[in-house]
Amino acid sequence: MVINYNMIVMQKDIHPKYYPNARIQCACGNAFTIGSTKEFIEIEICSKCHPFYTGKEKIIDTLGQVQKFRKRLVRKEEMKKKRKK
Ligand SMILES: [Zn+2]
Repeated sequence: MVINYNMIVMQKDIHPKYYPNARIQCACGNAFTIGSTKEFIEIEICSKCHPFYTGKEKIIDTLGQVQKFRKRLVRKEEMKKKRKK
């Protein structure tokens, strides 16, 4: 059997890169690592903030809204800095 090197390379590309220490960032601020094919994953809820685990009632915001809010905060801080100058 003739070994086709190109075929080996192509098969290698089919498999996604595996990250044994992929970073998971939750909308609540909790971060942890997990084995995944994605290097960085953003989630809306985790075991630390889910009401089922915490036993507390909590407003569950979607990640997009949280990000928008954070962006707004950053913009406010930048405006404050500019004013000082
Ligand atoms: Zn969380």
